[in-house]
Amino acid sequence: MPGVDAGTTVGDPPDVMTKRPLTVLLANPRGFCAGVERAIEIVERTLEKFGRPVYVRHEIVHNRYVVESLEAKGAIFVEELNEVPEGVPVIFSAHGVPKHIPAEASARNLFFLDATCPLVSKVHREAERHARFGRRIILIGHAGHPEVIGTMGQIPDGMIALVESVEDAETIQPADPDRLAFITQTTLSLDDTAEMIAVLRRRFPNIHGPKKEDICYATTNRQESVKAIAPECEVLLVVGAPNSSNSQRLVEVARKIGCKAMLVQRAQDIDWSCIDGISRLGITAGASAPEVLVEEVIAACQERYEVTIKDVTVRKEHVQFKLPRVLGDMAASA
Ligand code: SF4
Repeated sequence: MPGVDAGTTVGDPPDVMTKRPLTVLLANPRGFCAGVERAIEIVERTLEKFGRPVYVRHEIVHNRYVVESLEAKGAIFVEELNEVPEGVPVIFSAHGVPKHIPAEASARNLFFLDATCPLVSKVHREAERHARFGRRIILIGHAGHPEVIGTMGQIPDGMIALVESVEDAETIQPADPDRLAFITQTTLSLDDTAEMIAVLRRRFPNIHGPKKEDICYATTNRQESVKAIAPECEVLLVVGAPNSSNSQRLVEVARKIGCKAMLVQRAQDIDWSCIDGISRLGITAGASAPEVLVEEVIAACQERYEVTIKDVTVRKEHVQFKLPRVLGDMAASA
């Protein structure tokens, strides 16, 4: 077998003498965004300030490693508020929650902290503003995603409809096309969303909405950095979770460019058979994936190949969000 010594079992990393060269293009920005940093810091500081346990409704961010790290520190993750006992703090995840959730928490006198990303909260305020003007709202997003559930839950039932595809945008029949607005999920594909918005603007020229969309800076920058490296790579590894919308979008963006892209949660998920014959590998990470997991993937590559790393930075990020006042008026860093 070429490149493998006699006595090496299939699946073992080749020894140092037989390592093939591999150039790794490292997309930048990648990984944690300011909203994710803030949400994790809210859980950590709440644990420090109020002690164990602290309850968190839904995965604070969509990453198993992050959730397990916080569980080890004393966080308990639940899906519903009725699983939270009296007398302990509860935190709402970065994705946002429907309005009835904080209302229920208040009714039960629970002490709650809202880790909703400020950029998601901004979309919530947009939805409320349109509703105040009596506009029906079209939300561009993915059914069942917690952010979509949270955003739809900001205004009364029946005032908001979901559009998931260009086909949906072509066929939706609003009651009053002249009193209409659109908003979007923050973690969508820029290109797909632009197509859907173009259809809505063509069909409903009086529709209100943001200038472009509500896709956040972190989603935008991570997709741009994938677009910068994907044409140069034979394979792209996206470190992220299957339920992470922005990670899935990074895979799609690369595939549209013609690059073979794979989502991996940890190094152990890598299908080495796809990498063994290539010379240029791209690596990026979704906004909820910590850098330690990127380092783990790079280390696994270095075990097998003679790796040369090239950092490809398309933009520097300096976004910071403040923590809730009760935890100290300090900025969480991106
Ligand atoms: S991906 Fe964007 S909207 Fe989501 S938490 Fe990060 S900054 Fe906020």
